Amino acid sequence: MNNNPQNDSTISLADRYMFQTYSRFPLTLVRGEGCRVWDEEGREYLDFVGGIAVCALGHSSPIVSRVLKEQSEMLVHVSNLYYTRPQMELARLLVENSFADKVFFCNSGAEANEAAIKLARRYSNEKFGQDRRTIISMDNSFHGRTMATLSATGQTKIQTGYDPLLGGFKFVPFNDINGLDQALDVSVCAVMLEPIQGEGGVVCPSPPYLKKVRELCNQRNALLIFDEVQVGMGRTGKLFAHQHYGVVPDIMTLAKALGNGLPIGAMLSTEELAKAFGPGSHATTFGGTPLVSAVSHAVLKSILEDGRLEHCQSMGDYLKKGLERLSRKHGLIKEVRGLGLILGVEMDQPGGPVVDACLEQGLLINCAQENVLRFLPPLIVRKEEIDLLIGTLDKIFQGMRIEN
Ligand SMILES: *Cc1c(COP(=O)(O)O)cnc(C)c1O
Repeated sequence: MNNNPQNDSTISLADRYMFQTYSRFPLTLVRGEGCRVWDEEGREYLDFVGGIAVCALGHSSPIVSRVLKEQSEMLVHVSNLYYTRPQMELARLLVENSFADKVFFCNSGAEANEAAIKLARRYSNEKFGQDRRTIISMDNSFHGRTMATLSATGQTKIQTGYDPLLGGFKFVPFNDINGLDQALDVSVCAVMLEPIQGEGGVVCPSPPYLKKVRELCNQRNALLIFDEVQVGMGRTGKLFAHQHYGVVPDIMTLAKALGNGLPIGAMLSTEELAKAFGPGSHATTFGGTPLVSAVSHAVLKSILEDGRLEHCQSMGDYLKKGLERLSRKHGLIKEVRGLGLILGVEMDQPGGPVVDACLEQGLLINCAQENVLRFLPPLIVRKEEIDLLIGTLDKIFQGMRIEN
C-alpha cells in the first residue's frame, strides 16, 4: 500500500478515482506545441488526432494564449442576464460568414444539437401543430451523448442500456435518397445529418446527395439540420463542409474547433426559425462567456484571415496523395476518403494494431469504427510532418505484409 499520493502514477490515480468510461492509451500528456505533444517522461509525439478535430490552430497557439490572458484579466463570466461585447462580436463574425442570421451559444457539440432539436420541434409546433415532430437522422451518425442526442445517433452501441430513448427519431441510410424519400412523410419536422460522417468512419456524401436532400426537405416542408460539429470551422478546407456541396441548411451546429480547446458550442439558424426561440425558451449558464467567446472570435478570425483554409486544402491534398500511394503499394487499404484535413483510410482489417504501432513510433492517430484510420491534424500541419506520418505508416504496413 502506497500512502504517499505524490508517488502514484497518473494512470493508477485514474484507475482508482475515475469512472472507467474511456479506454485510454497508456499515455500521460503534459505539454503541447503546434502539432506535437510531450508525455511525462519528455517523449515527443506527432499529433494527428488534434484533440479530435478541436485544436485547429495547434497546441499552445500564441493567438489563444494572448487572448486568454487579456480577456481573463478583463472579465471571465457574468451570466447571460447581461450583454458582453465578445459574445456579440463572435456572433457577428459567425453570421457574416455563414448562411445564418442568428446564433445561440452553449458549451459542447451535444448541447448545440440539443438546441437544434429543440428549435426544430418548437418551430414546427408553432407553424404546423403538434403532429409534425419526427426528426429523421442517419444510420451510423453521431450527434452526442445526452439523452436527446444519443437518441438521434444512429449507432446501437451508443444507445445500449439507456432505454427508454427519447421518442420521435427515425433512421435512414446515409447517401440513400430513396430511403429518405419514403421516410419523409407529414410527421417529419426535420432531417438531421453530418455533411461528412466523422465518427461513422469519414463517410462522404455522393456528389448529388445533399442537393437532393435539400430538394426533398423543401418539397415536404421539413427543416434541414447540418451537424458541422466535427467538419466545420475550416476542417475540410472551407469554413463549413456544406459549402463544398452548394447546399444551405436551415440550422447548423458547431463546437469542437470553435474554441480551439476551450469548451464552446453554437447553434445557428435563419431569422424565421430564430423567432421560435423567444425569451425563456432556451438557456444555459456558461454558453458564450466573455472569456471563451473572445478566444473563439480570435480563432475564427485567424481561420478566415491567415490563409488557414488554403493551407488546409493544400496540406489535405498532399496527405491524401501520400495515403493513396500507401494504398497502391501495400494493398491492405480498401479506400482513402475525406476532404481537406479530415481523412480516413479504410483497412481490410481492424485498425487498432496500426494505431498502437503508430503510438510506439511516437505518432498519435485514431480509429473511427473498427477499421477506419482517421487523420485530424491541426490545420497548421506542415509538409515535413505529413512526410513523417507517411514514412512511419509505410514501415508499419510493410511489417504487416510480412506477417500476413
Ligand atoms: C463530437 C461530435 C458531437 C458531440 O460533441 P460533444 O462536444 O462531445 O458533445 C456531435 N456531433 C458530431 C458530428 C461530433 O463529431
